[in-house]
Amino acid sequence: MNAPLQTSSHFRPATRLSSIGVSEILKITGLATDLKRQGKDVIILGTGEPDFDTPAHIKDAAARAMQAGATKYTALDGTPELKSAIRAKFRRDNGLEFAQDEITVSSGAKQILYNAMMASLDPGDEVIIPTPFWVSYADIVLIAGGQPVLVPCSEANGFRLTAGDLEAAITPRTRWVMLNSPSNPTGAAFAEADYRPILDLLLRHQHVWLIVDDIYEHIVYDGAGHTPIATLPGMADRTVTISGISKSYSVTGWRVGYAIASAELSLGIRRAHDFITVGAPHPLQEAAVTALEFPDSYYTYLRESYQARRDLLFDQVEAAGFIAWKPRGAYYILTEAAHFMKRYDCPDDTAFAMHLIKEVGVATVPGSSFYAHAELGRTKIRFCFPKTDDMLIEAGRRLQKLAR
Ligand code: PLP
Repeated sequence: MNAPLQTSSHFRPATRLSSIGVSEILKITGLATDLKRQGKDVIILGTGEPDFDTPAHIKDAAARAMQAGATKYTALDGTPELKSAIRAKFRRDNGLEFAQDEITVSSGAKQILYNAMMASLDPGDEVIIPTPFWVSYADIVLIAGGQPVLVPCSEANGFRLTAGDLEAAITPRTRWVMLNSPSNPTGAAFAEADYRPILDLLLRHQHVWLIVDDIYEHIVYDGAGHTPIATLPGMADRTVTISGISKSYSVTGWRVGYAIASAELSLGIRRAHDFITVGAPHPLQEAAVTALEFPDSYYTYLRESYQARRDLLFDQVEAAGFIAWKPRGAYYILTEAAHFMKRYDCPDDTAFAMHLIKEVGVATVPGSSFYAHAELGRTKIRFCFPKTDDMLIEAGRRLQKLAR
């Protein structure tokens, strides 16, 4: 018999864990929540979730589904009813036609992204990720054995990836390019004209596939629409579109997401999913059908109310002395805070985010959580704005003290 590998009473973490960090967002949110529990008055503009209550229609649908017995395992890749609703949504909103076997439901967009990477990456395979990016992308690639290749996107180009920068990053090992539009944390959004040069390039590099995270597709501002990249010629077979219900219906805790991909890739995603969990929560899948059938007026209302909050917080942070980028979509404002960091003797953005929590009573996220390279500096702070007007105004009042 072999000797046991565990030779001491100390836990020995797997090597794969050593390549990934602990999310700054979780650390800062943990601290803010602890302070709140101790009775401290902290306004949380850190975690990426809306403060609004979940629409009553969806909650009622979940309760009805539970009462009616929707409490058991479902098909691995989602209930036929939810898959039909997703199909109808893509047909209605994006003019896209997909078969049922090209749709996979999972416990959140994050999980399906993980499944897609587990299904496709071999050790050393490269995934190009434009930065700044949502914190989880690089860690998911690493844990799946791949190699993230980070490509900085400059402020001058609105934090959007250029075809030139992308081409320079492509190698024979490149498997995927990950795009997120509108983006967390910059709010940058791709219009069709922005995608064109990237797609032309990808048509010349057939081994590079595209993974598009459209989770903020409904949250776009100033009359802009959302361009689903899979509608653009030549890409449908090589594109995975990821989305979910967390952000548009204020159900971040429900965990329902989905992916659209070719039948072959969807099968791989499903096989990876099979060993992680079975399906997604049954009553919530039923309620998700109700959510996806909401009329256009709901999304108009959503955009208008988020845009009003964007404008409110943008004015507040500018008045407080931050240099801010006005987002074209999603619900974050990325700001430059180098001058405040100098003034308050904070060596980096994490120290300044701590200062903001402890001394000002506002929880934010340090910008370096979203990019692991020096080009963009460790001087940025992200605010999340789908909160009540009162919270945003009070946050602004507190932040304005920084300049005094
Ligand atoms: N994609 C992006 C860009 C996000 O910002 C987030 C959450 O913050 C997610 C995916 C996670 O989505 P889900 O809650 O469906 O896992």
